[in-house]
Amino acid sequence: MTNGTWGEIREQLEKHLGKNNYTTWIEPLRFSDLKNGVARFEVPTSFFGDWVNRNFGDHIRSHLNAHGAQVDRVEFSVSPAAGRAEKPAARAAAKPETKPRAVARRVADEDLPGAPLDARFTFDSFVVGKPNELAHAAARRVAEGGPVTFNPLFLYGGVGLGKTHLMHAIAHELQTRQPHLRVLYLSAEQFMYRFVQALRDRSVMDFKEMFRTVDVLMVDDVQFIAGKDSTQEEFFHTFNALVDQNKQIVISADRAPGEIKDLEERIKSRLQCGLVVDLHPTDYELRLGILQQKAEHYATQYRGLVIAPGVLEFLAHRITTNVRVLEGALTRLFAFASLVGREITLDLTQDCLADILRASDRKVTIEEIQRKVAEHYNIRLSDMIGPKRLRTIARPRQIAMYLSKQLTPRSLPEIGRRFGGRDHTTIMHGVRKIEELMAGDSQLADDLQMLKRLLQG
Ligand code: ADP
Ligand code: MG
Repeated sequence: MTNGTWGEIREQLEKHLGKNNYTTWIEPLRFSDLKNGVARFEVPTSFFGDWVNRNFGDHIRSHLNAHGAQVDRVEFSVSPAAGRAEKPAARAAAKPETKPRAVARRVADEDLPGAPLDARFTFDSFVVGKPNELAHAAARRVAEGGPVTFNPLFLYGGVGLGKTHLMHAIAHELQTRQPHLRVLYLSAEQFMYRFVQALRDRSVMDFKEMFRTVDVLMVDDVQFIAGKDSTQEEFFHTFNALVDQNKQIVISADRAPGEIKDLEERIKSRLQCGLVVDLHPTDYELRLGILQQKAEHYATQYRGLVIAPGVLEFLAHRITTNVRVLEGALTRLFAFASLVGREITLDLTQDCLADILRASDRKVTIEEIQRKVAEHYNIRLSDMIGPKRLRTIARPRQIAMYLSKQLTPRSLPEIGRRFGGRDHTTIMHGVRKIEELMAGDSQLADDLQMLKRLLQG
């Protein structure tokens, strides 16, 4: 077989495997020889060879045989000259500044496109409470860097509940314990940005190569890639390649994999393969714990500032939205008190934080509950107040009744009026029904948790 024949076969492979696969994986191959039924190709790296062999080896072999060559096996050997040197001249001309270099080298750590880590986000500074204890334990396990036991670790929860903090903590810990590991943390947005850049610079191969040399990959806020088709596709391949190599992956999102709209089914199911844990909304004890820790920290920073008893408790009680808001409130409080040189009392707190306190007073309305529940169960908003008794409609309606009782200060008759003028006993029945079902139905319990979280923001 000659190079010319290989040229023809390449064209057919392009048709067969698609432009993307072709450019990335087939074009860089260099035919070297065919002897004793073994066709040999040069590849830029051994990873590259493995990949092509595993994914396209059979295609290549059958196309060769269809051309009359007698091939039992395809082999790949590493030659740094493969890949780049084979690229068409037009491409080199388009980007003359590209310095020739051996692709086979290990990507230096400085080349990793990760986001910087926040030095404050460590396990030491993470306060553990009931709502986050599982997520914390799972993160600790991953941070030990032992054998991969679950892959990926999928952390999800509402804004400001500590997902990013935990991911950074894992990275810090791994860097101390196992400095040789290549740990890459980045947001899904950065992943997309890098990918688009690689497409533009025609360096998708480098991009792939780089991601596949990582030992631990952490992608934050993965919901961002929903609806972005080619980024999803690339993410899926990166993900699979790393899982295949038994490399640890940690993912975060604002909701469970199955709840992310416009995310491909196959990605959802891969994301569910490992350990999925959620960070629940904070409870009073956790909020107080976090405030106490931060206050201690500030006490050393602003020497001499006194904080009156009851202030932290007041804040933990009143600010229930998320930890970021809680922290912001405390930061402002200390800065303000030190500026005016006064003790931090309840009065000062109420003055200084009036806007935050007012904002977190925002109560959930029955209308919002009805809308969210209807959306979640895919029924019409009008069915919430309508008369239909079909189970698929009556059940969500009862869920909305239950949430209205739980999340708003409205009385049963008031709730009844908002549900199309139903009697208060109907509402009571609905609430009880859901309480009963919840005890034995964990899917329903999860749904309710999620709806509550969505509603309380
Ligand atoms: P998310 O990524 O879930 O939106 P972050 O991890 O960015 O939330 O957390 C928001 C802020 O709250 C950060 O400053 C973080 O340090 C802090 N925080 C969240 N949970 C905790 C916790 N359990 N202990 C201490 N700080 C926390
Ligand atoms: Mg975050």
